[in-house]
Amino acid sequence: MCIFCKIVEGEIPSNKILENDEFLCFHDANPRAPIHLLIIPKVHVEKFQDVTPALMSAITPFIQEVSKKMGLDLSGYRLITNNGDDGGQEVQHLHFHLLGGTKLSWPHFSPEETHKAL
Ligand code: 5GP
Ligand code: ZN
Repeated sequence: MCIFCKIVEGEIPSNKILENDEFLCFHDANPRAPIHLLIIPKVHVEKFQDVTPALMSAITPFIQEVSKKMGLDLSGYRLITNNGDDGGQEVQHLHFHLLGGTKLSWPHFSPEETHKAL
């Protein structure tokens, strides 16, 4: 069982923000912003590339509800999913990072990386 499935099952503790039958939101263990949450489906889906439109449709209002609960709906936030090796995905269970609580810097990659790709 993957680490996030263990969190869903309660085998690994997490600091939960919101949950329903399908989704769970909890604090990232290694926050990169004043507010750094992870939003996951309870069912094991490996990555965004495998996600169904039905799941994406259902998770959208859940994410919006989380943002309201955390007071980020008006101030703004960033939603990220890292997909696969180049995307830097470390946990192989689909998750969305919701970052906020400050003015976030952009972009996330270096100028050298940008020019390499051109
Ligand atoms: P990824 O790089 O896969 O997009 O992000 C995985 C995220 O999961 C990282 O930000 C990491 O800090 C977080 N993480 C990994 N293991 C745990 C854990 O056991 N509990 C919590 N709350 N977060 C975790
Ligand atoms: Zn899993």
